Amino acid sequence: MDKYMYINGQWVAAVNGQTRTIINPYNQEPVANVPEGDETDTQAAINAAREAFDYGVWPYKPATERGNIVLTIAELIERDKAELAELETMDTGKTLTESLDDMSDIADVFRYYGGLADKDDGDIIDSPIPDSRSKVVREPVGVCGQITPWNYPLLQASWKLAPALATGNTIVIKPSEITPLTTIKVTELMEEAGVPMGVVNLVLGPGTKTGQLLAESHAVDLISFTGGIETGRKIMMAASGNFKKIALELGGKNPNIVFADADFETAVDQALNAVFFHAGQVCSAGARLLIEDTIHDAFVEALVERTKHITLGNGFDSSVQSGPLISKEHLRKVENYVAVGVKEGAELIIGGKRPEDEVLQAGFFFEPTIFINCDSSMRIVQEETFGPLLTIERFSTEEQAIQLANDSKYGLAGAIWTNNSDKGGRVASQLRMGTVWINDFHPYFAQAPWGGYKSSGIGRELGKQGLDEYTEVKHVFENTNPTPLNWF
Ligand code: NAD
Repeated sequence: MDKYMYINGQWVAAVNGQTRTIINPYNQEPVANVPEGDETDTQAAINAAREAFDYGVWPYKPATERGNIVLTIAELIERDKAELAELETMDTGKTLTESLDDMSDIADVFRYYGGLADKDDGDIIDSPIPDSRSKVVREPVGVCGQITPWNYPLLQASWKLAPALATGNTIVIKPSEITPLTTIKVTELMEEAGVPMGVVNLVLGPGTKTGQLLAESHAVDLISFTGGIETGRKIMMAASGNFKKIALELGGKNPNIVFADADFETAVDQALNAVFFHAGQVCSAGARLLIEDTIHDAFVEALVERTKHITLGNGFDSSVQSGPLISKEHLRKVENYVAVGVKEGAELIIGGKRPEDEVLQAGFFFEPTIFINCDSSMRIVQEETFGPLLTIERFSTEEQAIQLANDSKYGLAGAIWTNNSDKGGRVASQLRMGTVWINDFHPYFAQAPWGGYKSSGIGRELGKQGLDEYTEVKHVFENTNPTPLNWF
């Protein structure tokens, strides 16, 4: 199948004529050809979004009408959920069950922000100046550049598109060059829902030639990025040219803390779920397991036993629990981290290599991998490996668990397993992270904010906070005294 970019209401190829073949990471078979755009296409998309914001109707449309269009997008996603999920599985290798789940979450995100679109009436301020009126209103920021990663292609796009549309902004979205298919499809749905020409523009191509210009351009007012820490740094620097607003959702190295009083069986199952879900390619993966000394050995034994039974394979096969890594380059990166871990003195107790199964050799598979005897000085404990790689440390006191969990440049998410609710609350309040789960791992939803402390990012997505990112705050003061105070 051939796909196109969407600029100023037209489906177009790249001006340079280049294309990229999208492959299925399960077997490396081609699934689509897409344009490989560059700065020329990106500039055209920025111009279209600028024009639509400065002279178009979208920012001034009644918020209820904008909200209804966003709600229609949610309905269309529900209608085409099966097709969208299949595209996501073909593009990323993740299981179809997971892709279907993502699509439900994505429809929820559009529904949530469609519903919120007309709920902000502004604030009347009790002005201290006699004979005056004062109000505070929120307005759209302007042209928004949105750059997304490959691990949750459409989910991450929805967290940006829905609040930006609901608040009246115009958009240039650039998905990861290796996983653009669902973002292309949802752009078709946005067109069908009645989003006017120029309001949403889709550019495809490598980040250095497309995303970089979005971050640099003085015609872009906001850049929202989800991806790795090094790219985030480049974007932040490029964005400083016109001091555009920035929202960065970066990586994580998320601690999963198991106290001895936790429900043992549930905590073991969930420790696997925390790290091996989507082959560990999750920003909030529980890749650092901290286990209380007294249960450490039994816990590790149970974990290894269950890890042996994780089924790898084709995401379209319903018995499969985990798909491949996204690409050859990423597979090499994860393999390299295993070598680093061994060199650092961590003990590899399961996995650490590609599976021997011949069918799986065609894809980018890697076995679920566990290291024990790890400590905070190790790179495999500190760096985001973004693969099925678990490091295990032990602790003996609550204070030590907190200290180890916080000993990271990241601060995205973490979890605590305990049957003592006071302890759970106490520890949660001391973890320097944007999300803390107690006796669970992974839940997120449209209504609750998502984002990181420390180097895990700037700003929040989802929740009311995610909507605020896409608005400027304006104070309107009106004097009603015909002879206002005059100093001259
Ligand atoms: P990446 O940083 O390599 O790429 C992300 C996007 O940035 C892609 O679209 C890419 O084309 C673009 N890009 C690359 N160079 C650019 C440049 N110089 N200027 C502008 N754009 C550029 O990340 P990835 O490998 O696609 O995704 C994995 C990363 O995403 C992980 O670090 C993960 O933790 C992070 N992530 C974070 C969250 C979160 O919510 N915090 C969610 C999902 C993924």
